[in-house]
Amino acid sequence: MSAHGNGVAGVATAAATDPTGTSPNHLFTPWVIGDIQEKARLGRYRLRGFGSRADLPSLDDLTILPAGLSRMALEGYREECDTRTVLGTRAGSPLELAIPITVAGMSYGALSLTAKVALGRGATLVGTSTTTGDGGMLDEEREASRLLVYQCLPSRYGFTARDLRRADAVEVVVGQGAKPGTGGLLLGSKMSETIAHARDLPAGIDQRSPVRHPDWLGPDDLVLKIEELREATGYRIPVFVKLGASRVVDDVRLAVKAGADVVVVDGMQGGTGASPDLLMDHTGIPTVAAVVEARRALDAIGADDVQLVVSGGVRHGADVFKLLALGADAVSIGTAALVALDCNRPVHPEDYAALGTVAGACHHCHTGRCPVGIATQDPDLESRLDVDEGAERVANYLGTLAMEVQMFARACGKSSVRSLAREDLAALTPAASAMTGLPLAGTAIPT
Ligand code: SF4
Repeated sequence: MSAHGNGVAGVATAAATDPTGTSPNHLFTPWVIGDIQEKARLGRYRLRGFGSRADLPSLDDLTILPAGLSRMALEGYREECDTRTVLGTRAGSPLELAIPITVAGMSYGALSLTAKVALGRGATLVGTSTTTGDGGMLDEEREASRLLVYQCLPSRYGFTARDLRRADAVEVVVGQGAKPGTGGLLLGSKMSETIAHARDLPAGIDQRSPVRHPDWLGPDDLVLKIEELREATGYRIPVFVKLGASRVVDDVRLAVKAGADVVVVDGMQGGTGASPDLLMDHTGIPTVAAVVEARRALDAIGADDVQLVVSGGVRHGADVFKLLALGADAVSIGTAALVALDCNRPVHPEDYAALGTVAGACHHCHTGRCPVGIATQDPDLESRLDVDEGAERVANYLGTLAMEVQMFARACGKSSVRSLAREDLAALTPAASAMTGLPLAGTAIPT
């Protein structure tokens, strides 16, 4: 029997609404059908890199409100707009950045050595910081990076007291936006002898990093862990705590209570080298919602001396401006930095084809067969990335992001990126208005 009363009538109704018999099913789309059949064939979930492909609420749902008569714009050619940013203001040696944009943690293993060094050099050229990742700190990365944040991850792969003492900040990683509540993943194709040695693991074997830290079980223990890190570094460097955006209000409050100098919140649009496909599209909350909740949490507990860094899908200066206006002190980029390095560049089409993709749609970092030498440990592929040229592109891109933020800030009459505020924004959709608390464009009423 059909939902229409009897089978015959049901068939007749369907035929009437779909005369060609080819209209798409919005639930079981061709992609979903292929996905189910692939899982049926593999007997496991699917993996991929890059980030969520879901059409999520985003910073594009907000617009910037430049000056007019109610406030005056600044002249771009002669009036300064200060981009200097300080993170970890409570620490003996805070991070003093020339721009409010940093490079996020990405592991040596997920990325090639050349890519890590190019990111470090690029960040240094514009006066900002970069971050290590699962697998420890490379000597070459340390040398290339004037300001280097050292991640303390649950795996502790390559984590040493020596490297901790030569870091400019330490970041305790609780989670990441692409896959909150789960650990790292590095497939055997990327577990070269060198990577395996750094992690004290066998080469060629898939490696799953733990999700929970071995030496603290919850926020109360995190207090002790942070104190231990402070002691080990002579109370000199700032301690960051990085969270995957999920239960943001509670997590941020607990991180601050545990002693974080800087809270990093990574939204749902954040990238990763490898993750189960579903995690990226169905866990956490979007970056635009995460920044609002994080700022509210910090304000609610009066944490004026704790800085907020937000990441997750930042692409251009408008994204940076909007996150700063919503309450971030700085933003962090990961995927965009790789794109600046030439990720998805249309070269070597045969290698993209071998991965079953094309340049512009590649999300195959997990395979280790990166056509442009970034997400690989294959020496031949890695040689395609020139470290000097890559560093220059990263620096150019970071510098351009800062210029774009300055452009928007001056248009809003602001002489410092630290003056950007919620009043500089309006929501373009009712959903974005509800999510951010910003007024919906077109609803202003004369007072
Ligand atoms: S081009 Fe390389 S870095 Fe970019 S998505 Fe593909 S595999 Fe990953």
